This record gives sequence, C-alpha cells and structure tokens, in this order.
Amino acid sequence: MRTSLLAKSAARSAMKLKALHMYAAVVALLLCSAVNFIQSPTDVFGPVALLEPTPSAARDFGAVVSDAPFAVMRPESAADVAQLLSALSSSAPRRPRAAVAARGAGHSLHGQAQARGGIVVETRALQPRAVEVVVRGGGSGDAYADVGGGALWVEVLEECLKVGLAPRSWTDYLYLTVGGTLSNAGISGQAFKHGPQISNVLQLEVVTVEEESEDTAISDLCFFAFVFASSVAGSGEVVTCSPTMNPELFFAVLGGLGQFGIITRARIPLQVAPPKVRWVRAFYDSFQTFTQDQELLVSMPELVDYVEGFMVLDEQSLLSSSIAFPAPVNFSPDFGSVDGDRKVYYCIEFAVHDFQQQGSAADHVVELVAAGLSYLRPHMYSVGVAYFDFLNRVRMEEESLRSRGLWDVPHPWLNVFVPKHGVEPFKDLLMDTITPGEFEGPILVYPLLTDRWDGNTSAVVPSSPDGVMYVFSVLRSTDPARCGRACVEAIMEQHRRLADEACRDGGVGAKQYLARQPSPAHWRDHFGSSWDRFVARKARFDPMHVLGPGQGIFPMMDSASSM
Ligand code: FAD
Repeated sequence: MRTSLLAKSAARSAMKLKALHMYAAVVALLLCSAVNFIQSPTDVFGPVALLEPTPSAARDFGAVVSDAPFAVMRPESAADVAQLLSALSSSAPRRPRAAVAARGAGHSLHGQAQARGGIVVETRALQPRAVEVVVRGGGSGDAYADVGGGALWVEVLEECLKVGLAPRSWTDYLYLTVGGTLSNAGISGQAFKHGPQISNVLQLEVVTVEEESEDTAISDLCFFAFVFASSVAGSGEVVTCSPTMNPELFFAVLGGLGQFGIITRARIPLQVAPPKVRWVRAFYDSFQTFTQDQELLVSMPELVDYVEGFMVLDEQSLLSSSIAFPAPVNFSPDFGSVDGDRKVYYCIEFAVHDFQQQGSAADHVVELVAAGLSYLRPHMYSVGVAYFDFLNRVRMEEESLRSRGLWDVPHPWLNVFVPKHGVEPFKDLLMDTITPGEFEGPILVYPLLTDRWDGNTSAVVPSSPDGVMYVFSVLRSTDPARCGRACVEAIMEQHRRLADEACRDGGVGAKQYLARQPSPAHWRDHFGSSWDRFVARKARFDPMHVLGPGQGIFPMMDSASSM
C-alpha cells in the first residue's frame, strides 16, 4: 500500500515536472521566436530600448566606409549594455543575430565603430560621464580619476585641472572618448616617458560576455532552452577588472579593438598638472640629424616631458603647422625648384613642464637641452603656454581646417610603427608616395620606447632590438573638389601597398596602428605571435563574435540568421 502510494506520488511528480518542462519550453521558444516578427528596432528586445539608426552611426572621421546599422542604442548605464549583450550572446538557434559596435566619438578611419545590419551602442550617452577625482593620502601620488567610457579626454582634463591634477599620457587630439582610445593605444608626445594611455590605467569596468557554465545554464529557465533548443553561450556581465582582479579581461580589453567588451568606466592615474609648459620647435634639413636628436631627447625623461616631430614638405605645410604655435617662426627655407628634387625639412617639437609662475626654471632646462641639439641654427623657437592650451593645440588646427571646408572630408590616413632599424628605408618608401604641393595635412614622425608598452595588453608593436620604434602618421585631408572617390581609393591602395611592404616578413618589421586590415588573414599576420592569444581571448569573452564587427577580424557565428 505504502509502496503504491509512493509510486503514485512519484508518477504525479514526474508528470508535473514533465508538464512544467513542456510549459517552460513553450515559454522559452516563444521568447526565442519573438524575434522572428521584428518590424522595427524598437520591437526587438523588450526592455532594451533600441532606436532607429541615425546617419552618424554610419559615419566616421575617415569618411571612406559607411555601413548602416539596423538600430542604435543609447545606454544610460552599464546594465543596459549588459542586457543587450545577454540577448545577443545566446547560441539558441532562434535567438536574434546581430553584431554590436561601441561608438565613442566616431573618429575611426575605416568603419571600425560601425556595425552593418547590427547595433551601434553610442557610449557618449552613458551616464554618468562625470569625472570623479580621488586623492588618497593627501598627496598626488595616489590620485586617480574615475571616468566614464564615453567621456572625452578634454572633459577629463577640464575636470582634473580644477584640482590641479591631470592624466600623464595623452593623444594629440582631445575630442576622442576614453573607451575609444583605450581600445587602440592612445599615443602622443608623452608616451616615450609614460607609455601609451593603455599603460596608464588602474582599473576598468567592462561589459563583457561571460561564458555560462552548464551548471548555471540549467539552474533557471535557460534550462529548457538548454534541453529543448540548444546551449546558452554567454550572458552580458558588468565586470570590474585590473592587473590583479580579472587580469585576463583587463589586458584583453586594453588595445583590444572593441573585441572583448565595452568599456563603461576607467580609473586613470593622475599627476600634478603644471600651470604652463615651455613649448619648443627646432628645424632640421637632415632626417638623420632630426631622428638622432629626437632619440637624444627621449633619453632625457627627467628633463623633457613631451617629444614629437613632423616633416615640412613645402610653404603650405610650414604655414599650417604654425597655426597652433603661438610664437613667430622666422624660418623660410628653400624647398627647391618645382621640376627638380624638392627638399624636405623636419621640425622637432618638445616641451618642458613649467611649475614656476614667475621666472621660469623651464627656460633653463630648455637652454640646457637645446645646447646638445644639432638643429639648423638659429631656427629654434620657444614659447610659454598654459598647460590646457598646449594639450588642446590640435583644436586650433581643427578650426582652421573646418573654416577651409577640409574637416568633414575623406581622410585616407596611414599610421605605422616602425622599428628604429627600418626608419630610413620606410621614410624613403613613404616619400615615393607623396607629391609636395598636393599633400594636405601633417606627417608626424617621432620615437617611442617599446619597454613602456605592457606586453600583456592586446596592442601590437614591432619588435625592436634597441627598444626604439618610430610612429609615422600620414594625416592627409582630401579636398573633394580636387580628389574624388577614385583618387581617395588610389591613395588608400598606395597606403596598403606601402604597409604590406613595411609589415611583411623580411621587410622592416613594421606594424600598422589604427588600421582596419583588409582580411582576417592580414589580421593574423598583423598580430603575429600574439594571434593565438587574441583568438583565445575572443573565444573566452565573446564566443559568438558579437562585438566589434567593424574591425573585420572575426566573422560572426551563425551569420546566416543575421538580422
Ligand atoms: P570610435 O571611433 O568611436 O571607436 C574606435 C574603436 O573602439 C571601435 O572599434 C569601437 O567599437 C571601439 N570602442 C569605442 N568605444 C569603446 C568602448 N567604450 N569600449 C570598447 N570599445 C570601444 N590616436 C592616438 O593614439 N593618438 C593621437 O594623437 C590621435 N589623434 C587623433 C586625431 C584625430 C583628429 C583623429 C580623428 C583621430 C586621432 N587618433 C589618435 C585616433 C583615435 O585614437 C582613434 O580613432 C580612437 O578610436 C578614436 O576614439 P573614438 O572615441 O572616436 O572611437
């Protein structure tokens, strides 16, 4: 009797469980199948608010790629982003398939922040973008700023300067987002001393896709999707990471090209900001002397705070490079005849922080340093400027280009890191592609020290036995009235050939920066020995290849059911 009661009860339980399974399976499948009836972006994910795409979501500074997304998201919080990534990271067959690109200020060059047919997450909407400055122990030694991933570096600077502090490492242009530059590297004339911006981060908050173990997956409703449909690949999680807390994610995301997560906050170390800097320019007619002196300057980090340099191709390039420099420059070199070989000049730019308001110790440092340089005497010019104005100097160039209608135009840029031993041959290859008089924009050339780059991050730099590499930034604006689509294509093709030659095995061993490689095979070559690590990081943090489609590194899984 007791046995049959037990048996009946067990049978009832089994039936209940079966009914529950069936019910939940239907619910799960209904939930999953809802996406089959998408009429508009706002229908897709219920609580995740998606918006109709805006033209800016398919545009960037490069203005050569334009891929329209299916929808745009303006998240208010990291949790909003996590919800979106959860919805998209499931491997259940009837779940929506859409790739997601974070878009900061959209200053990419080749559509890297775009998502064709996918979803663009506009990180500028993230709240709070506010910058919170924390000084521990009364000194600046432990000071840091917690900043939103969508904050512009100029906003970070303005806020930190209110308490006399500032980050150490910069980009030349400040209207870029924290998340955008940390996804690349973030370099400027301070990088020889402090490393790139990715070497100057204490902690990150990242929304990533955490792979769900089977134990987790079968603990809730997903169990039924697991049993009746397929396994769940991951869910969006907000993760805090640092060199000691979730270090694998921390290092993956830095220089990670938006492949492993969306940066929603960053903790940036601060130093005491000088009220002023002494800003110096010195001219050269020999490339060799120019680079030798640059290397001398970067060997003196205790004296010098910033080192860059640029080529002076003609009168126009001298004029436009002088726009932001607020001191008279009486340098009128002879560039040679139009038909004959045109001479190229070079300009070193360095700066010394000036902490004295009256009578400047920085002047003495400049004198001391300049005495060891071999510039074309007397062509060295120096000026004292407010620290903010110095860091914000490219804004004036932007205004000038805007006034000439040359800002919102195609920018076929080329950025290459070249190891020291390849600098001369690379410069010659580059000059073969440039016609002075037709070239609009600066060509920056300056050295960086590879030991300031943390090899754990995802960024790639060339191996350089003597620890010195040069950045060559060919920052060309094309005037549509003189250079149409075919002309821009031809420039980009020229850049591709130049980069292939410089980066190929047996070449000068260069690595491109900020470029979208033309194919996954090129990406493999670009990453070289760190490719396997990059792939393993992708498998761990974005197994369904949802993130960063605009880089063209990983094709999306299950692309057949793309929206
Ligand atoms: P976006 O173009 O919006 O995004 C760039 C990439 O990062 C995309 O793949 C995107 O998906 C990803 N991404 C954006 N936000 C996030 C996030 N929160 N989390 C994860 N991934 C994200 N670079 C330098 O290093 N030094 C310079 O001096 C310098 N100067 C520049 C000057 C100008 C005028 C321009 C146009 C660019 C310059 N750059 C420089 C390049 C710049 O650093 C990169 O293009 C950078 O990505 C721009 O930031 P953004 O906010 O516009 O990023």
